[in-house]
Amino acid sequence: MSRIVHVNGKWLPEAAASVPVFDRGFLMADGVYEVTSVLDGRLVDFAGHMARLARSLDALGIVNPHDDAGWLALHREAVARNALVEGAVYLQVTRGSAGDRDFAYPPAGTPPTVVLFTQSKPGLADNPAARSGWKVISVPDIRWGRRDIKTVQLLYPAMAKMMAREAGADDAWFVEEGLVTEGSSNNAWIVANGRLITRALSPEILHGITRAAVMRLAAEMQMEVEERAFTIAEAQAADEALVTSATAFVMPVVAIDGVDLGSGRPGPVVTRLRAIYIEEMRRAAI
Ligand code: PMP
Repeated sequence: MSRIVHVNGKWLPEAAASVPVFDRGFLMADGVYEVTSVLDGRLVDFAGHMARLARSLDALGIVNPHDDAGWLALHREAVARNALVEGAVYLQVTRGSAGDRDFAYPPAGTPPTVVLFTQSKPGLADNPAARSGWKVISVPDIRWGRRDIKTVQLLYPAMAKMMAREAGADDAWFVEEGLVTEGSSNNAWIVANGRLITRALSPEILHGITRAAVMRLAAEMQMEVEERAFTIAEAQAADEALVTSATAFVMPVVAIDGVDLGSGRPGPVVTRLRAIYIEEMRRAAI
């Protein structure tokens, strides 16, 4: 089914939707994005995604073209026009087009480019991958220093996913100075002695919305969370490992660089966390 896509105030069939070749998103990856999951036709953790969008735009000095109510209306219209039940709404804002290529930013008042489209993903919640878990490989983290800004500069993460695929794995974990930063498109966690361990927030990682939700749920479940970095060796020796992201939710990791964790099957902590996360997000979706 052809999608109906939003571009700068217009709703268009996807084949007719386009942005100018001089758009800075296209020429310079000068833009940011958000991906909000949809369960039962409703938006998961929408407020969190809008807060991070505002933060990313602010960090790059791009004027936020809508307030939260405006964004909510656009997201809901994207869901409705595409009869989306389970999947995601992708949103991108770029610095727009000044009608030419130039490193200098376009003049103030140049309108940002806004694009929204939907991705139908039946089986997002009941994902068979969550029953077997992901195998990950480690790769050097050679990304830039502001990974907390959710830019569309995704070439290296895409390369890392391809390296994982070539190695027969499902994803890659980035390693910098001997410590895991995060996954190629998710936050990385381990479980050791009943404690959840994940890297503290800093410019070195994206401040995951799912990470924040899992921290809240873990606190409610009286689980201890330690915010600190860990090595691949520590992760390989952990009881369990997992990643969190808006579309993977809470995904078990069962092998790291060819070393199985524990039994090589998703463990009890990650299995429970995933179920509770999905239940809670489904309930609170808007
Ligand atoms: N880190 C990176 C590098 C990511 O690309 C993502 C997903 N966008 C995440 C973490 C997870 O963030 P979220 O839970 O908000 O999807």
